[in-house]
Formats: sequence, C-alpha cells, structure tokens
Amino acid sequence: MTGNSIITSLSAAADIMLPRYCIVCGRRLYLREKFICIYCLADFPFTYNWNMPRNRMADRLNAMIQRWAEDIDEWRAFYRGRHERYAYAAALFMYRGDASYKNIPRRLKYHGDIAAGRFFGRILGARVAMSTHFKDADIVIPVPLYWKRRWDRGYNQAEIIAREVASACGAAMRTDILVRNRRTRSQTRLNIEEKEKNVRGAFSVRLAAELLPKAVHILLVDDVFTTGATTYACFLALRRYYGPETRISVVTLACVDNG
Ligand SMILES: [Zn+2]
Repeated sequence: MTGNSIITSLSAAADIMLPRYCIVCGRRLYLREKFICIYCLADFPFTYNWNMPRNRMADRLNAMIQRWAEDIDEWRAFYRGRHERYAYAAALFMYRGDASYKNIPRRLKYHGDIAAGRFFGRILGARVAMSTHFKDADIVIPVPLYWKRRWDRGYNQAEIIAREVASACGAAMRTDILVRNRRTRSQTRLNIEEKEKNVRGAFSVRLAAELLPKAVHILLVDDVFTTGATTYACFLALRRYYGPETRISVVTLACVDNG
C-alpha cells in the first residue's frame, strides 16, 4: 500500500467510527468532503465583493466613516486638508436572517471548531490575496475580544480567520496593536444606533506611537459583519495613529444581509 492509500483507508475507517456532518445542513459527509457537503458548496453564497471596490457592505461602513470625518471638528486638524478614501470591505459569504450558512461562524465561535475556522479562513484568504484591492495589505489585525472573554473562550475567533488571511497575503498578523477596553453587551438585540453607541470607544491602540509598525494597508478582520459598528469602532481607534495615507479595510468571513 502506498502512503496515500493508507491515509485514505484510515480516513475511511475514521469516518465509519466517527462520522462527520456538514456544518451547514447536517448531512453526513462523504470521505472526500471537508466540513461542508457538495450540495451546500454548490449553493455557497459567495459575495464576490473582494472584486468590487464598492459594495453594500462597504457602503454601510463608509456611511459611518464619512459622517464622522465630516462632522467632528477635532479631526479637521488631523486631516489637514487630506481626505478619507472610500474604505474597502469584503466578506467571503453572506446570509440573511436565519439561513443555515450562519452555522459556519457559529461553529467557530460557540463550538470551538478551530479546524473549520481555519478551513473557511483559508478560502477567504485566497480570495483576498488575489484581489487587486487588497493584495498590498501589509498588516492584518483581528478585532480583539475583551481579555476576560478571550480567557473564558480560550481563543479569539477573529484571530483564527486573520491568521489565514495574513498568511495568504504575506502580511504580518499583529494582535499587540488593538485592545478592547471593556466588555461590550451582546450586539444581537440592539438596533443600529444602539450598536454604534455600545462599541464606541470600546477599542484603543495599546502600543506607544513610536512602536507602531509603518503600514500601507491595514486589514481589520472579524468573523461576522452586521451593521459594521464594531469594525468602525476599530477603524476610529487606528485612525488616531495612522493618517489617511494608510488604507484601513475590513475583511470578514460572513456578512449578514439585513436589507
Ligand atoms: Zn450540506
């Protein structure tokens, strides 16, 4: 027997003893399927918005950024006539409300399935690394958890995805730059204004300015993008230190399509 056929036989034996199921629909997986069955893969709701500099997800984020950049006087001095560019944002897939594809981020966040997170993170990373809009990214920053939550969960789901994105782009992943200052309430039941208020000021840069790495293009990575309030709050924290010549974009596994 060759090495490969031994591995195949062992996998087949493991499948019989420990059957694996599709994360999305729950169907039992065949030997060559990984995490998701061919039917759910065929219907996979890719957004393709890594190829579209303007898309609905990015519009949601930019609406918040533009409102802030124009309205707040203290920032006029910071910008000194420079302007905020339209920020790029992309998700691997989108789902509406209760669609079963929401099981993918849930599996990583609540069931500790890090292997599944890496699997989908790699698919996202490959798309982002090929995109003309994202491929110059040099720093990847996962949206941080509050230290207590990270301690309880044992990992940060955004970091699992960010590591794959950074590796695909040949960028450095940095978890020492941004910090979440306080525990924020669960966002699930809040409306958009409440969400924005809930996370405003929740993040800050914890490295001294002289220790911050220079960056051309920073990718903020999270698991799910809903209103954009969380990544917007991270964006603001970074913008205090990185001028508008540094592009700050958002990349997530999923985007909830709520309209
Ligand atoms: Zn399936």
